[in-house]
Amino acid sequence: MLAVSNLEVVYDDVIQVLRGVSLEVPEGSIIALLGSNGAGKTTLLRALSGLLDVHEGEITKGRITLDGQPIHRKRPEQLVGLGIKQVLEGRRIFAEFSVEENLRIGAYVSNRGMRDAMQRVFDLFPILADRRRATAGYLSGGEQQMLAMGRALMSSPRYLLLDEPSLGLAPRLVEQIRDLIVQIRDQGTTVLLVEQNANMALSIAEHGYILETGKIVMDKPAVELIEDEDVREFYLGMA
Ligand code: ATP
Repeated sequence: MLAVSNLEVVYDDVIQVLRGVSLEVPEGSIIALLGSNGAGKTTLLRALSGLLDVHEGEITKGRITLDGQPIHRKRPEQLVGLGIKQVLEGRRIFAEFSVEENLRIGAYVSNRGMRDAMQRVFDLFPILADRRRATAGYLSGGEQQMLAMGRALMSSPRYLLLDEPSLGLAPRLVEQIRDLIVQIRDQGTTVLLVEQNANMALSIAEHGYILETGKIVMDKPAVELIEDEDVREFYLGMA
């Protein structure tokens, strides 16, 4: 299990963004992390994938553990080696390379492993197989999101950290991405799903956390969050 306990994160030595966050991501689950703009969701993902440094951020208190072992001092490539892989918000594909080249960049495997991994990704996202030679920058928004997810899946991670995969996508594509996340979980990858689309996230997650100004304000099974009056009003847009 991946676990965060009492985590505090500060940017530029002074701006405190996480204020004692605790969260658990049990193996085999989809866990939703919800919260409005600026709550600190991306910051938590950066802490989990070792990317705080790049943004002048620092963990000042608390810990992150994988199967009970502390991992919050590890570098991004070590965390990838342990099976923790993040799909960045905004997708960050290599626009000038082809779909297939983007997938190759995601793999840290032998040629044989590469073929198998690519086949798995193409089975999951047939549209990428159809467009394998297309230049990534010319794909639609939904296809680019699939490519970013496919690239992360090339190394068969234990944990996939998704930062707002539904951002900017039409409802039909959001549904498709949602179904794909379920398939990814069913194939054995545990998912931490950061979303502003609470409806989408809670419809597939087992458990959800709501982060507000750096603190977890709700921590409940997804079915209970969907029924909660405040959640319905503030996050699901139902009065
Ligand atoms: P969003 O949905 O807008 O991405 P979020 O919940 O993911 O929001 P974060 O991106 O983690 O929130 O940002 C939380 C707070 O930290 C914001 O106030 C933001 O301005 C601040 N912040 C983020 N990155 C940095 C940085 N590199 N230096 C200073 N402050 C930062």
